[in-house]
Amino acid sequence: LPRRAGGALPEDHVAAAQRRAPGVPVIVPPPPPPPAAAEPERLDGWGFRGMGFELLPSGSVILRGARYSGSEVELPGLLPWVRQALAIEIDPRDIHPSSYPPTVPEPRLPPALMEELATALPAGALTTDPEQRLRHGHGHTLEEIYAIRYDGSRISRIPDLVVYPDSPEQIAALVAIGTRHDACLVPYGGGTNVTDALRCPAEEDRPIVAVNLSRLNRIRWIDPVNRMACIEAGAVGRHLQAQLAEYGFTLGHEPDSVEFSTLGGWIATFASGMKKNRYGNIEDLVLDLEAVTALGRLSHHGTFPRESAGLDLRRWLFGSEGSLGIITSAVVKLFPLPEVQRYDALLFRDFESGIAFLHDLSRETSPPASVRLVDNLQFQLSQTLRPPAQGAALLKRRLERWVVTNLKGFAPDRMAACTLVYEGTAQDVRAQERAVRALARRHGGLRAGADNGRRGYQLTFGIAYLRDFVMRHWILGESFETAVPWSQVSTLCERVKDRLHAECARRGIAGRPFVTARVTQLYQTGACVYFYFAFYHKGLPDPVGTFLELERAARDEILLAGGSLSHHHGVGKLRRDFLPRVFSPAALAWSEAFKQAADPGNRFGIGNLSVAGPPGRPAEEPAPR
Ligand SMILES: Cc1cc2nc3c(=O)[nH]c(=O)nc-3n(C[C@H](O)[C@H](O)[C@H](O)COP(=O)(O)OP(=O)(O)OC[C@H]3O[C@@H](n4cnc5c(N)ncnc54)[C@H](O)[C@@H]3O)c2cc1C
Repeated sequence: LPRRAGGALPEDHVAAAQRRAPGVPVIVPPPPPPPAAAEPERLDGWGFRGMGFELLPSGSVILRGARYSGSEVELPGLLPWVRQALAIEIDPRDIHPSSYPPTVPEPRLPPALMEELATALPAGALTTDPEQRLRHGHGHTLEEIYAIRYDGSRISRIPDLVVYPDSPEQIAALVAIGTRHDACLVPYGGGTNVTDALRCPAEEDRPIVAVNLSRLNRIRWIDPVNRMACIEAGAVGRHLQAQLAEYGFTLGHEPDSVEFSTLGGWIATFASGMKKNRYGNIEDLVLDLEAVTALGRLSHHGTFPRESAGLDLRRWLFGSEGSLGIITSAVVKLFPLPEVQRYDALLFRDFESGIAFLHDLSRETSPPASVRLVDNLQFQLSQTLRPPAQGAALLKRRLERWVVTNLKGFAPDRMAACTLVYEGTAQDVRAQERAVRALARRHGGLRAGADNGRRGYQLTFGIAYLRDFVMRHWILGESFETAVPWSQVSTLCERVKDRLHAECARRGIAGRPFVTARVTQLYQTGACVYFYFAFYHKGLPDPVGTFLELERAARDEILLAGGSLSHHHGVGKLRRDFLPRVFSPAALAWSEAFKQAADPGNRFGIGNLSVAGPPGRPAEEPAPR
């Protein structure tokens, strides 16, 4: 096994590792590059600066930037398809101009607080820069991105200060200072949440300090023998992937936001990655964690394969959404890099046949690392995002289409597609492929090839830029997800689509809304269903208000149809009003009481999860129920 000493880290990291696993040599990798240096992120929307879709005067769409496969290639089919799918006329010259950056409120910072912070933190670790403060007060919900681009009146409160601590000790000092000066502290990872989790409560009149964790981004140690690593909470997914790969390992956690989201954010939101079928969800991957809370530092004396030691309070940090403290590091499981990674794609006559295939896949075989079944509308969209073919490639494409539609009789407006990613040893992958293909045949599936599988999987990273792009052309869009038992998967998809169509019609929304579903993470008992929803809003008096009503209607329908409040996005402030529909009064009282006991001064007052008491204030004693 490789053993490289980075040399840049304090000895106590190694000592701590050896206390946990005595006698085991550990690797201390060098810290990753500072996140902002080489690859700056956009501040006015999703992704890397310089990346994004653009509509050319010719009507073709192009994905700018050289990062993803298929970028810098003109896509002539996308705009005509969007016009037809949404039943509206889109004029490429009719742009909704962004007014980013909006005017933001002045910071409210008592000098005594600033003085103490400046002493406790290194130089350059504090900023009141308006754009940075703004960025730390939002994630990526539709309403938040619309607010920063078009409607600053929706932003009433943002952090007063952003701080960049680089050790747990500095975070502990911050919490102590926050307590002395009654400040509200908000942990910030990658800012990618889609639940309004970072939106500051309008009523919060204490100073709000955003605690950016990007300087806590080191892998402290890798223990190759016991296959675990201790990683600081601000480490960003894409850096972790690259660093661990150098030592032959992977964490296997690959959310679609992996380029920007962080380990601490994953834990705090109960995240799930696209390869969860093989590696598990974040709660399966984290063995131990450390956090700084209002009551002090939470830590544990060792990392074990499993433990029965009473209530496991570390578990409370999962899904805590910044409300209970600041996660500073975690010990995670590692997996050897897969010997083989292979892609594949399947076509099914319709979405229902695909769902039946997935259901059997979940109970008869071990599913590939990633499996994604998209419905017909999403399949059509993915076709329009395919770079145009020429010459022999075009002929091949036409022949394939003829075989699927004419010879096999698949209807272009009904068929569904499934992309697959296999990972493991060559032998395991071969066996899995055989089993999956046999099962697919039983469900009338056709193989669509590895190239389509790879393209379908990687398309996700490009698709993430689509929402911001269509917003420039008067289309509002958002994704949302749920987990649902197998028996309800198909009905739930239909009901949510029908409900959104009916709600849009009732409001006289122009054209046709775009509502599409895909089935992703698989479980023995059910699956995750993920929706995209969009509509054209030009002319509507209150587009975002309408959008929020529609989104709530969709969530209502999900709950009525037997789905969960969320599979992996979480609650934040977006869905907290639904909590009383999914938890009993006693369960809610329990959670409020726990928050009050663990954080009596509401130091972590970002106001997520809580249904009782005004945000930003200590939660009141719950009324007897
Ligand atoms: C395009 C796109 C794709 C996405 N795909 C997925 C996906 O595939 N799977 C998935 O699960 N989610 C996905 N998400 C949602 C989002 O990426 C996750 O919720 C992610 O886990 C948030 O991590 P973050 O580091 O960005 O956290 P942030 O957005 O910075 O914070 C989220 C919440 O966690 C708290 N928090 C952050 N760090 C800490 C910490 N160290 N200690 C305590 N609290 C903390 C914050 O206060 C906040 O309340 C996606 C989002 C987008 C925009």
